Amino acid sequence: MKNQAKVVVIGGGVVGVSVLYHLTKAGWHDVVLIERAELTSGSTWHAAGGMHTVNGDPNVAKLQQYTINLYRELEQISGQSCGLHITGGLMLAGTPERLDWLRMTVARGRYLGMDLELIDMTETKKRFPLLDEKHFVGAIYDPIEGHVDPYGVTHAYAKSAQIGGAEIVRQNRVVDLKQRADGSWDVITEQGNVHAEHVVNAGGLWAREVGRMVGLELPILAMEHQYIITDDVPELAGQPELLHVIDFEGEIYMRQERGGVLLGTYERAGVPWSTRTTPWDFGQDLLPNDLERIAPSLEVGFKHFPRLGEVGIRKIVNGPFTFAPDGNPLVGPVPGLRNFWVACGVMAGFSQGGGVGFALAHWMVDGDPGADIWGMDVARYGEWATRRYTNFKVRENYSRRFRIRFPNEELPAARPLKTTPIYDRLQTENPVWGDYCGLEHALWFAPKGSDAREDVTFRRSNAHTHVSAECRAVRDAVGMIEISNYGKFEVTGPDAELWLAQIMANKVPANGRVALTPMLNENGKLIGDFTMCRISAERFLLVGTYAAERFYQRWFEARLAGFKVQVRACAMEWLGLSIAGPASRELLQSLVDDDLGSGAFPFMSFRAMDVGLVPALVGRLSFTGDLGYEIWVKSEFHRELYERLVAAGKPLGLRHFGGRALNSMRMEKSFGSWAREYRPIYGPFEANLDRFINLKKTDFVGRTAALAEKTSGGQRKLITLDIDAKDCDAIADEPIWLNGRVVGWVTSGAYGHSVGKSLALGYVDRESAQATTGFEVELIGERRAALRLDNPAFDPSGQRMRT
Ligand SMILES: Cc1cc2nc3c(=O)[nH]c(=O)nc-3n(C[C@H](O)[C@H](O)[C@H](O)COP(=O)(O)OP(=O)(O)OC[C@H]3O[C@@H](n4cnc5c(N)ncnc54)[C@H](O)[C@@H]3O)c2cc1C
Repeated sequence: MKNQAKVVVIGGGVVGVSVLYHLTKAGWHDVVLIERAELTSGSTWHAAGGMHTVNGDPNVAKLQQYTINLYRELEQISGQSCGLHITGGLMLAGTPERLDWLRMTVARGRYLGMDLELIDMTETKKRFPLLDEKHFVGAIYDPIEGHVDPYGVTHAYAKSAQIGGAEIVRQNRVVDLKQRADGSWDVITEQGNVHAEHVVNAGGLWAREVGRMVGLELPILAMEHQYIITDDVPELAGQPELLHVIDFEGEIYMRQERGGVLLGTYERAGVPWSTRTTPWDFGQDLLPNDLERIAPSLEVGFKHFPRLGEVGIRKIVNGPFTFAPDGNPLVGPVPGLRNFWVACGVMAGFSQGGGVGFALAHWMVDGDPGADIWGMDVARYGEWATRRYTNFKVRENYSRRFRIRFPNEELPAARPLKTTPIYDRLQTENPVWGDYCGLEHALWFAPKGSDAREDVTFRRSNAHTHVSAECRAVRDAVGMIEISNYGKFEVTGPDAELWLAQIMANKVPANGRVALTPMLNENGKLIGDFTMCRISAERFLLVGTYAAERFYQRWFEARLAGFKVQVRACAMEWLGLSIAGPASRELLQSLVDDDLGSGAFPFMSFRAMDVGLVPALVGRLSFTGDLGYEIWVKSEFHRELYERLVAAGKPLGLRHFGGRALNSMRMEKSFGSWAREYRPIYGPFEANLDRFINLKKTDFVGRTAALAEKTSGGQRKLITLDIDAKDCDAIADEPIWLNGRVVGWVTSGAYGHSVGKSLALGYVDRESAQATTGFEVELIGERRAALRLDNPAFDPSGQRMRT
């Protein structure tokens, strides 16, 4: 084993070898993988090897496509077979809701380049004769599904990496990690030490233990998972290999295994394994079978596929594999730690391992993952994702693996976790709560005395009329919403302005002013959008997306050197309330001594002022697009602020509104939002953020690339559509058609209650963005005509915000 390397990858499961291979492919050859036993000695060896391209997150779906297409390349390079069986697959619907979901999945596949086909039961039965068709209503067929041999894939990656110059050391456990002052690592192993610039934790079942070596508690947990292999099914003999099948109602997946069938389930009462520590002496072992636990799923399976109930069970496999709370991998550089990377929590290593390796390797080598992996970034979890939280959420996620997650559905596990001081006050207003990064926030308010519950559906829910009333209150009088669920940073110091000018794309505002600003990466792509509020010469409050707070922190910390500036994340220290609507000025004026007239406190002003008894920071802006104010206070004043606003607002018709109404109103203004319209795959000119990019500044991160995008016009354009919808609105990820051709996708949708229109924001290619008519948006399998709007649907001149 060499004692010096650029990178040490810890763990030789399918993920670690993929990272290793991709590092060599990206140009780093001085890389070593250290495996405590033999390759595949964690979850990998007993995996069922199934793979598919469909995923709820289109960006993860793209990485899954990449993974599956990679296997042939690996076979060619390494000469090692991956045991590739591309059989094609079926996803079966047993209910009308599931059929709707399948329709939406097919639609999304259209712009992802997937060739999904919705088929009726006659065709389904023809393609999969083992099923009893009375339990199903339809299916989709995906030609790119199948299974691989886990051993073959792992060794194909390993050999390809070795051909690229990597070293693989087996039978050698990493026992500790020590960081040097320059940020490099001493990797302490059973066979001696390796000094490495970077370390990658691909420890799979032991990723938590490897994390603990550097003081990190990763939010992952292993669950026991069982599959059975049946005795031979005589009807399969001499036939083409069975298609892969997912039976959502049975919570079952299936494929052929030699002459029999491999059938696995995600049972509802799933059981975690090794909740605190993973024993080091666990290796190529299995867990005791527990058929009782999966009996309910097997019962359904044998009803749906009767022949399987008639042949015996040849083998039962029970093995553990790890999950993050939301079921997506944890990938990337760990915030707060230099040169320490993770690639773990990968629950579908044979669909996702290639994409994870690709992204991590490019992140390390090029400084950018080269794909939109927002949904997998390790920075999405903070300290709130404790071990117990992870346990609750992983079990919930496992039990729901094959259940529909409706777009308006809130999941109950580990709640309420974070609440603000007005939580119980809001509770008396009968809200339906949502969970955002563990924080409770009101989605909408049900009439007092009624059951505050939302029907989960792909269509308009029972919230529709109530949200409508909330929007009306804002547009006609005044509404109030809690806005604590934003990320915040205090930026202070003599170089605060200079530093912000470098990091942000817009002009730094003058004292007492606010500027909206995108943040770009070096490639000129959107990685953040902020409200930059200047309190004084050397003091700013940055307000952005709460979910991205640690992502931003990591980005900021890497760019502080050489500046006299302090940047402090403080989301839960500054809590907020926003009031909006034509009467909002009168309301606030009744509580402050400062003159709030438009001359004295115009649009985009920001100032410290006392609101009643409370010292506050007040900005004159509102995401509703109406006259409005955002009021930020230290958490201990939040309740008092709330009480004052409620009391003073009563005579003016103040009404609470929630996140759903806010979303409707921002859509009426064509305001984009983070992770929807603004993501690292889009540029600022594509996203219509032209006016917030200050190219007069000679230098800021991403300027050169942004300028190039401005000159070329970019590839696509964000547009607003008015859809001729009936009982449902766009959600996100629906294809946009123009004259019979798919030209883009929806990023957000909502009913605009004040304008009476079903609205969508979405990206289309640049040429298509010129058209006004001829658009269609595919809503639950139905193409609905849509009109492109040149201007926001509500108050196109922006007069109301500025009054
Ligand atoms: C029963 C079952 C069925 C499955 N079916 C499928 C399927 O059909 N399709 C699919 O895509 N996925 C499936 N999976 C999941 C799949 O197995 C995992 O996604 C995948 O194996 C994760 O790989 P990994 O490399 O992250 O982790 P692991 O396979 O756990 O590998 C981690 C490796 O790191 C090594 N290691 C850890 N700590 C150290 C250390 N300190 N020093 C040195 N080495 C260390 C371990 O020895 C191990 O070899 C299944 C899993 C199970 C249990």
